[in-house]
Amino acid sequence: MLSALGLGMWQNERVKESCGVFGVYAPGVPVAQVTYDGLFTLQHRGQESAGMAVSDGETIMVYKDMGLVSNVFDEHSLATLQGFLAIGHTRYSTTGSSTWKNAQPAYRPVGPAGFALGHNGNLTNTERLAEKAGMLPGMFTSDSDVLAELLAQAYQNQGDSDLNSAHALEKALLEVLPEIEGAFSLVLMDAFRLIGIRDPNGLRPLCLGEYREFGPDGAEHVTGWLLASESPALTVAGAKFVRELEPGEMVIIDDSGVRTFMPFEASRIKPSLCIFEFVYFARPDSILYNKEVHGARRRMGELLAKQHPVDADLVMGVPDSGVPAAEGFARFCGIPYGQGLVKNRYIGRTFIDPTPEARARSVRRKLSPLTENITGKSLVVVDDSFVRGTTSRALVKMLRDAGAKEVHMRFSSPPFKWPCFYGIDIPSRDELVAAHVPVDEIAQLIGADSVGFLSLDQLVEAIGVEGGRFCNGCLTGVYPSAVPDFEEAKAIV
Ligand code: AMP
Repeated sequence: MLSALGLGMWQNERVKESCGVFGVYAPGVPVAQVTYDGLFTLQHRGQESAGMAVSDGETIMVYKDMGLVSNVFDEHSLATLQGFLAIGHTRYSTTGSSTWKNAQPAYRPVGPAGFALGHNGNLTNTERLAEKAGMLPGMFTSDSDVLAELLAQAYQNQGDSDLNSAHALEKALLEVLPEIEGAFSLVLMDAFRLIGIRDPNGLRPLCLGEYREFGPDGAEHVTGWLLASESPALTVAGAKFVRELEPGEMVIIDDSGVRTFMPFEASRIKPSLCIFEFVYFARPDSILYNKEVHGARRRMGELLAKQHPVDADLVMGVPDSGVPAAEGFARFCGIPYGQGLVKNRYIGRTFIDPTPEARARSVRRKLSPLTENITGKSLVVVDDSFVRGTTSRALVKMLRDAGAKEVHMRFSSPPFKWPCFYGIDIPSRDELVAAHVPVDEIAQLIGADSVGFLSLDQLVEAIGVEGGRFCNGCLTGVYPSAVPDFEEAKAIV
């Protein structure tokens, strides 16, 4: 979601975020509690604000606030949110937009009970959409806000007799969806139905789950459905993973079950899941493209060891996301794996601190050395990615100060060189070290004895899914759909 304090911000300040979305349609189930559990599991996708909308069939109640899921809701608020249908959202943004107004779900009071919307991703034609909705710069606070407004207008513009129709939201969506571009995994609801939509590139994940119960006839029946950004949220909510939504798919869930539609032109459908979901963003126990993320990260480490071997005493991972790749690295090259860093569990995000000094301080607060495993040893330190180089520079110094003999940094992805337009928080190109410094000079820059990056083809090999099914724009500058003007981006439309 893009915070628009003015349209210029779109290109200049590059507000980025990636959120978690959740939805449940399950009569007889405490849906607010289930949504809480789902959002809690998706907290890694957003810790700035959390919210949910719940319907009892007559009224939609929306409850949202700034902060972690556990700070926003308590037993009392959950108890007041009674119904059989809910959506939830947890939000992760970076600059300028940390306000209650941008917390989601967004709600619009049209039709009998209104509708609510939760969005993960980043739209790339917000400016055009805002113009179409008659919203001037300053009149909207996020791309999701513009989307909700467009939908509300399309809903309202239906004839009077259609406004109360069971299909009014569906019709409004079919009118608006073809117009929107970029990354959007959406959950929506009116008073009676839950809707899930994945953009034609499937840039952000979204999956479907179900509740099953044994009936009096002894047979198992489906008693409810769920939608979630990532599959572990389904498991935690006590449901079973069914499948990922297809890129460009819309599912409508109501008392007649799940109906599926493909509302976008066939020519727009081009599966391009963000490869960074595999590298860093998704939970290790998530299923993406039918693969468990942890296994893919371990294989990244194995191939990294094959590509950039090193003679050392100990392999260690940068907690948390570097750990599976470190295990794979150690296993492949037969060097012992050990813990060399302790992560403070109570730390917030270090990535968005404003200055290099503040970021380096945050890394020191987040990670501390285990001296016993470090002193006098040659170390391989495996992290998932290299962006500004803050983490690795601070780590190399910390490990040397703790007595390491050698520090060899290995990364389980190629270095970032390009901006992301689809919702991953990547700083401006000026700050991306590898956009300006040749790879063979990076070791010197961060003070390491050597540096090695997994190549893109080996990354794809490790994941085990055909390379053409990913967006790797942040690594290559080639994007799967039109992106806002950016002088150096090579957009492929
Ligand atoms: P840097 O320190 O700037 O090189 O960034 C790389 C480190 O930040 C790695 O340890 C990653 O796990 C982490 N990281 C990379 N991208 C992001 C992101 N978008 N949000 C939060 N952390 C990130």
